[in-house]
Amino acid sequence: MIVVMQTGSTQEQIESVLERLAEYDLRGHMVYGAERTVIGVVGAAIPPTLKEELEHFTGVKETLRITQPYKLVSRELRPMDTIVDVRGVKVGGERCVVIAGPCSVESEEQIMATARAVREAGASMLRGGAFKPRSSPYTFRGLGEQGLKLLAQARDETGLPIVTEVMTINDVDLVARYADVLQIGARNMQNYQLLEEVGRTGMPVLLKRGLSATIEEWLLSAEYVTAQGNPNVILCERGIRTFETATRNTMDLNAVALAKRRTHLPVIADPSHGTGKWYLVPPLALASIAAGADGIIIEAHPDPDRARSDGGQSLSLENFAKLMPQVAAVAAALGKHV
Ligand code: PEP
Ligand code: MN
Repeated sequence: MIVVMQTGSTQEQIESVLERLAEYDLRGHMVYGAERTVIGVVGAAIPPTLKEELEHFTGVKETLRITQPYKLVSRELRPMDTIVDVRGVKVGGERCVVIAGPCSVESEEQIMATARAVREAGASMLRGGAFKPRSSPYTFRGLGEQGLKLLAQARDETGLPIVTEVMTINDVDLVARYADVLQIGARNMQNYQLLEEVGRTGMPVLLKRGLSATIEEWLLSAEYVTAQGNPNVILCERGIRTFETATRNTMDLNAVALAKRRTHLPVIADPSHGTGKWYLVPPLALASIAAGADGIIIEAHPDPDRARSDGGQSLSLENFAKLMPQVAAVAAALGKHV
């Protein structure tokens, strides 16, 4: 439910609504907009009489039910776009962010060369995994803290904020010391305790859609983070499992466009994992932006053929640089800039 306050309602009137909510063990989540102040009501059980009860409070304009199961992330609660600020890089709104870098951090030379090249080409953030969720336990699973240190070194030199995955609750403190954005991988989208833990950090969170998750489940996972008082969630469509085997996954661009309608959170797309093939990355990157994505995250590597993970879907640094003017052109067609 949302409580819409009258324009010019006082802090005291807001407090009295919040106090009544607390009496019912409910929490009020404040949304201050340019035109109206809204209180989002969240909690386990909203008494059926509460809606009418609050409508009689002075300063309350109206109360409305939120029809979706997710509340805080819903556009019904907050019609305007949320902009997530990552060290000054604004995700959402007018900007089309480009996050680029290798699947895994492999060495100092590899990450530094990539960081310099993608920055030069116009990327706004650097990605790279230090803790890698791999289908086989016998493949490269990341450099761990050493990888985080190399990412921090790349940020120091290039100024690019870093996006890196955290896989377990135990690693949240460690990864949070180095990262600017905590990535929750597709396989962990429904690890609810991990979602709450990253929620408690207050840091920007990049939430990948699960391989078989519905859009509603994905948004409910985002709700877990925001329910901890952390509004800084960036959603990422990264392809889903379908009957099709010709590509690694199927990019669900419906999900990008629909999520933008259903939630105020920024939505980006990952055509690297979405397709699994480097030569499909440019067309799907452009299509994602055309579908309304607030940005893209792309795997790029100085020597994709020798990459220790996901080489087949990684762009060479040259191909990444060739893609960037096209990204800028499609973004410009939609009134956005890179
Ligand atoms: C990745 O970004 O390298 C990754 C493992 O992504 P996902 O969780 O989407 O598979
Ligand atoms: Mn990868």
